[in-house]
Amino acid sequence: MAVEQLEKLVTYYHENKLSHVYLIETNNINKCIYDLKEVIKKFFCENEYEKECKLCNICNLIEQNYLPSLCIIEPDGNTIKKEQILDLKKKFSSIPIYTKQNVYIIQNAEKLNGSSANTMLKFVEEPADYILGFFVTNDINNVISTIKSRCEIIKVKYDESELNIKTIYNDENKDYFDVAKDYLNKLEVEKKHLILYNKDIVLNIFSEREQIRKLFKIILIIYEALLNNKLGKNMENNDFIFLDFLTSKEIIQRIKLVTNLLEDLEYNANIELLLDKFVIELSDVL
Ligand SMILES: [Zn+2]
Repeated sequence: MAVEQLEKLVTYYHENKLSHVYLIETNNINKCIYDLKEVIKKFFCENEYEKECKLCNICNLIEQNYLPSLCIIEPDGNTIKKEQILDLKKKFSSIPIYTKQNVYIIQNAEKLNGSSANTMLKFVEEPADYILGFFVTNDINNVISTIKSRCEIIKVKYDESELNIKTIYNDENKDYFDVAKDYLNKLEVEKKHLILYNKDIVLNIFSEREQIRKLFKIILIIYEALLNNKLGKNMENNDFIFLDFLTSKEIIQRIKLVTNLLEDLEYNANIELLLDKFVIELSDVL
């Protein structure tokens, strides 16, 4: 799912409240463009856009960058050239056939130079109902002010703090790490009241979806590290010696369960139910 700020655009679109042109500042341009394409699918999808619409023509064309009414302009070398903008203007001079609007995305908008920015400006100044524009940049201060001033500005910040076997020991992850260890010890070693552990250990401390996701990402990393140990890929992990009795096959089963849970957590509303499902499935393989 795209981040909240972008997801809002889908609502605005369907309520006819979308602006003609947006300037998006983000700390991860590629991810942002990817998410923006998801949003555009949701504008134009011929079906109710579900998790991933693989069915309709429009979504498929967007996915493959073949939709004639979607144009993504990337810098040609160090700049976005005037010719690229002229091409775009020509392409978008008529009403689109397959979708309600033509959409352009200018990737790295800070790379518009004097003359390409001027050409672009005309486009922005004379908005047509059938054209939507998105400028994407990693630093809004470097975008030419005449363009900036005509755009509605959105900030899309991605959490770049990566979780891995090294960072799970960091201070900012300590609460999660401790709970993960406790939870795994109770589930795998004590095995007494599996369902209760969800409430007592996990939900007692974490309630937000993102917190639960983070906790289970850490649990996944722990299982993966254990598996690496079994496979002889070194990694000293005295912290998890209490799980050393698990066989490779058993660890793989658990990795599958946690992976499924993480996927479900993305879309399913009832966290408690998902956690219960997880321990019930786990109890089958304990
Ligand atoms: Zn679709």
